[in-house]
Amino acid sequence: MWIDSHCHLDAPDWSDAQRPVLRQQARAAGVDFCVYPAVERANWAHVRELAHACGDGYALGIHPLYVLQADDADLDALAQELQRCHADPRLLAVGEIGLDYFVPALCEPAARQRQWHFYTAQLELAQRFGLPVILHVRRSADLLLRGLRSLHVQRRAGAGGMGGARAVGGIAHAFNGSLQQAQAFMALGFCLGFGGACTFDAAQNLRRLAADLPAEALVLETDAPDMPPQWLYTPAAARASGASQAPNTPAELPRIGAVLAALRGLSPEALAASTSANVQRVLPRLAALRH
Ligand SMILES: [Zn+2]
Repeated sequence: MWIDSHCHLDAPDWSDAQRPVLRQQARAAGVDFCVYPAVERANWAHVRELAHACGDGYALGIHPLYVLQADDADLDALAQELQRCHADPRLLAVGEIGLDYFVPALCEPAARQRQWHFYTAQLELAQRFGLPVILHVRRSADLLLRGLRSLHVQRRAGAGGMGGARAVGGIAHAFNGSLQQAQAFMALGFCLGFGGACTFDAAQNLRRLAADLPAEALVLETDAPDMPPQWLYTPAAARASGASQAPNTPAELPRIGAVLAALRGLSPEALAASTSANVQRVLPRLAALRH
């Protein structure tokens, strides 16, 4: 039993007719549950519908790659949408939110400021609505951590909490930072998302991190249609001569999990069990849905 904690099945790479087929293929491969994070206001309804149609979960938010085209009013709309959907048990988190300092256009000073504005405003919404967050982390781990700390986020201390500021917690998706950064996220109640990137033989640092982190730190994800595992990846040279990159799909999750299990010297079953328990710990509404 596997959980894909991050999958964009609503992406335009597929038609509406293909989506249920892909979900069924993933189910047949052993993927029991998928989480669909949103990227912009225009797809909030779509991820919600998909989650309901497929028996899965969703998150609502504005992705850092979309903040330049987003309107400030979208933050008010997000607050209203979170209010409206709060009683929906399939709403699991605020996401996908975060900071991206890889894309050049997003590194300009004004773009960095806008990203920060959207990130911190959405963190506050997560705290207000008592929801965890799904974070996009690309060359931005330290600033994301600063935002979390400035919110006075405390480590999730079980259902009762410790009083004071409510823990946000969640998932740092597609994590590719240092061990210290990973530990800092863990101390704030986060798990780290691992997917196709750790299937590449060349990804030595990431593979070492995936092997060394404590079991309770890891969750699995495909990020489909992005982040293809090594066996689906079309190298740049082949793409330059006309070959296309096939989309990654949630059905790849068990094979990605088997690679990670081998790195950790575990059976795939044991890794599936621990990572599934971890997702349910950091996305408590998912645990409630499944019991
Ligand atoms: Zn994503």
